[in-house]
Amino acid sequence: MPALVPHDRDAMHASAKTWLRGHPNTMASEVHRIRRLVEPGARNAYSVLTMVAAKSRLGTLGGAVPEPCCLCGEWTHAYCESCRLEDGAPFPVCTTCDGAKAVCPQCLAADRTWEVGRDEHAARTQGRDTVLEVNGYHNELGEYIECRPPLQIDVEDLAHLAGPGGDGLIYAQEIFARVQAAMDARSGIGMD
Ligand SMILES: [Zn+2]
Ligand SMILES: [Zn+2]
Repeated sequence: MPALVPHDRDAMHASAKTWLRGHPNTMASEVHRIRRLVEPGARNAYSVLTMVAAKSRLGTLGGAVPEPCCLCGEWTHAYCESCRLEDGAPFPVCTTCDGAKAVCPQCLAADRTWEVGRDEHAARTQGRDTVLEVNGYHNELGEYIECRPPLQIDVEDLAHLAGPGGDGLIYAQEIFARVQAAMDARSGIGMD
């Protein structure tokens, strides 16, 4: 549950506008993911045209808004598996691209593969896949709180809430409460 690197709104809209002008007969909101992966204009047009619906569907997570996947343009709260959270906010990579073991362009350039990121994550969390790493969140005042080093929040006992039939909203609120408790503990609040 990290806050994601925000996209460049102006650049996205400018790119989308140019592409839409050149493709007046293409439904940008229905352009296939494979084409969006290789055609930045198509990706940006897709993100712009699906933004309102996706944002209302995805809501906020820990106060953070969704961002467009830097590979395919799908709006998401998910992020690149290989970005180093110690270095700051990770780049948004949607679950479909993550499922295809794709990493963000920065990690790709640095030769940080999906497998490298997964192995590092497993080493930090001792292989417990119920541990969330949190590098930052927005508090109830809307202020961004950075967590360095990233917090590790074990949600094993909450896993049943997230599954089919579970209440995703309660799940998110409970995780948020744990993040705040962990930050309070770190800063010494309530630890006289
Ligand atoms: Zn994607
Ligand atoms: Zn990355």
